[in-house]
Amino acid sequence: RAKEDGRNSYQLYQPAMNARSLEHLALETALHGALKRDELLLHFQPLIDLETGTVVAAEALLRWCHPELDLVSPADFIPLAEETGLIVPIGEWVLRNACEHHRAWREAGRGELRMMVNISARQFRDDAFVDVVDRVLQETGMPPALLTLEVTETMLMDDVDSSIVRMHRLRALGVNLALDDFGTGYSSLAYLKRFPIEELKIDRLFVRGIDRNTRDAALVAAIISLGHSLGLRVVAEGVESEDHLKVLREQGCDVAQGFHFSVPLAWPAFMALG
Ligand code: C2E
Ligand code: MG
Ligand code: MG
Ligand code: MG
Repeated sequence: RAKEDGRNSYQLYQPAMNARSLEHLALETALHGALKRDELLLHFQPLIDLETGTVVAAEALLRWCHPELDLVSPADFIPLAEETGLIVPIGEWVLRNACEHHRAWREAGRGELRMMVNISARQFRDDAFVDVVDRVLQETGMPPALLTLEVTETMLMDDVDSSIVRMHRLRALGVNLALDDFGTGYSSLAYLKRFPIEELKIDRLFVRGIDRNTRDAALVAAIISLGHSLGLRVVAEGVESEDHLKVLREQGCDVAQGFHFSVPLAWPAFMALG
């Protein structure tokens, strides 16, 4: 109540308050109720093993279907959920929901599938996080070895030592860790070797030009050999064409993800993949 009044008077005395901040406020209010109103859902994008050509993993990607705003992009609402702390309950919902879908996959007798879930900085830093992951694994019967949590360099660099401790606690649960958007954050090779991760995901920024730009191609080749020399699996994000794929194959990339194979799909469509 007091908070609302505060906001009203702020609006009254700050005529310069722009459309952007009003929009922000409306979005924040709407996001508060999104979980309760059942407006959140996950889409799943397949990851393809480049040696076998089969789907080996699914990345769960959050979608918000607001009745008036249509589909709001995660690029718009995840930062907002971070700022407000809403990402903590939303992130737990994502994790549980992804694991529940994975159970449906197992119960259908389908082949081995890894489930990849994005974790935000605020969520990762939350003291209860490791316990939440543990609890969700128990409650959903998710085989920990088939769950991969995607973290970014930038969020780990905030407090490297405690991040590494936390990563080890997660590894002790049996889950795997992937470094997402690799190459776009603060990279430190000294830390990279200390992170208990099993996978690098090359950001699509670098993949985009590999068929035309020799510098991009050289960078991607370097990341792949760096990953391999550390014993990591390397995934290319944003693979949009046969030409991208050809270069990545030649460079020995392990796994690819992108519109060339499939956009993120609603669960029934993902289940229907060959
Ligand atoms: P990300 O984790 O790097 O996810 C990959 C993004 O690239 C997804 O965007 C996906 O739709 C998009 N993408 C996949 N293939 C291609 C391609 O070939 N070309 C292009 N142009 N894009 C491609 P999306 O779903 O909009 O998600 C954006 C970001 O939002 C994600 O980037 C991730 O950082 C964040 N995000 C999504 N879902 C969650 C979630 O459940 N929790 C958290 N914390 N963050 C999430
Ligand atoms: Mg990701
Ligand atoms: Mg990424
Ligand atoms: Mg990203």
